Amino acid sequence: MMIFKFGGASVRDVEAVRNVGLILDLFKDNELVVVVSAMGKTTNALEKVVASHLAADGRSLDLLNEVRAFHLDIMAGLFPDQGHPVYAAIENYLLEIEWVLDEEPRQPDFTYDQIVGFGELISTTIVSAYLNDSGTANRFVDIRDCLLTDNTYREARIDWKESERKTCEVISRMMESGNRVVVTQGFIAASSENFTTTLGREGSDYTAAILAHLLNAESVTIWKDVPGVLNADPKFYSDAQKLEQISYTDAIELAYYGASVIHPKTIKPLENKGIPLYVKSFLNPQGKGTVIGKDLQTKPQVPSFIFKNNQVLLSLSSRDFSFIAEDNLSDIFAQFASLGVRINLMQNSAISFSVCFDHEESRTENLIESLRSHYRVRYNSGVQLCTIRHYYPSTIDTIAQGNEVLLEQRSRTTAQLVLKPIQE
Ligand code: ASP
Ligand code: MG
Repeated sequence: MMIFKFGGASVRDVEAVRNVGLILDLFKDNELVVVVSAMGKTTNALEKVVASHLAADGRSLDLLNEVRAFHLDIMAGLFPDQGHPVYAAIENYLLEIEWVLDEEPRQPDFTYDQIVGFGELISTTIVSAYLNDSGTANRFVDIRDCLLTDNTYREARIDWKESERKTCEVISRMMESGNRVVVTQGFIAASSENFTTTLGREGSDYTAAILAHLLNAESVTIWKDVPGVLNADPKFYSDAQKLEQISYTDAIELAYYGASVIHPKTIKPLENKGIPLYVKSFLNPQGKGTVIGKDLQTKPQVPSFIFKNNQVLLSLSSRDFSFIAEDNLSDIFAQFASLGVRINLMQNSAISFSVCFDHEESRTENLIESLRSHYRVRYNSGVQLCTIRHYYPSTIDTIAQGNEVLLEQRSRTTAQLVLKPIQE
């Protein structure tokens, strides 16, 4: 059994959905679990619906109608018969969203998941119906019947044991009784009270990895609009190179520090079972792509660059004469953890401690305010974190050009720089 994941770009219009069918035709001998994300930029569009609902600005239904129109347009191309049952199915989902909008908003993260999760339900319903019509018989699975999480809305954590039991009960059984292809949603799951939860933005890769782990799949393939994993973002580097293969460790490090091709949580469930992950182009499905797997050395051994923008570099020193040692550090970490601020880089000396983290306005403000009660705080916002895996000394100099290097750290394999552009 193989797990395929198709992201938003791979189902963004009529032609893209047809192309999914063509790709599946290349794997007629395999059992496939096909994990699909919301179409195109639907998740962003639904986020706007949520924001409008929470702000009660009276625009949420108009915004939802844009989502409706986008999907109806794709459906018109795929299902010329206006009486096709898929139209009623999609209209039902939209109606369910309207019901949520009819009610007073509850806790924001909860409300978010109840609305945004429909993007995936809608896309998979369309894709599954299209595939059934075009010769790829498949079963639609509501992944909320398989994956169970805690109640941390927007960042839900998997209950591995229960999810394993349910996934086997639903998907394994379906396949054992002769169904070769299953189509299901990425990104969403269910809480123990049976509400929709989501696994964090771009979480469909993670869903594919979870299912691979639970079902002992032979591999996972993520179909993307790039030829594989590149060593730099081609938007900024015209000479970005494709990596043929990547070790699990390198993949985790690259994804964690912001390489946007793979969701950072994706690798671990695969590594634990030695399941390989392929990243391939949906525009060139026969191409080799990139493979991430067991006992693989990253090849070619070129430096990989990852940039994370919109960072804050914050330095703390104690107000009294105490050292920044265990006591203070544990207090500092507790404050970061309780405010949900994720640290990307840190460095300490006897009396000061510097950290670099993602800037999110309200979180950053709360954090600074809370730290100020005990520490002297200085910070720079709008800085960039550059991570270079397998660096050469000369690559660091190139990256530093035109920037002030506010902080630098090197290990044998990885260099990290906090950069601030030099204003001319
Ligand atoms: N549709 C979700 C998002 O855009 C999940 C995903 O695409 O992986 O974040
Ligand atoms: Mg996406």
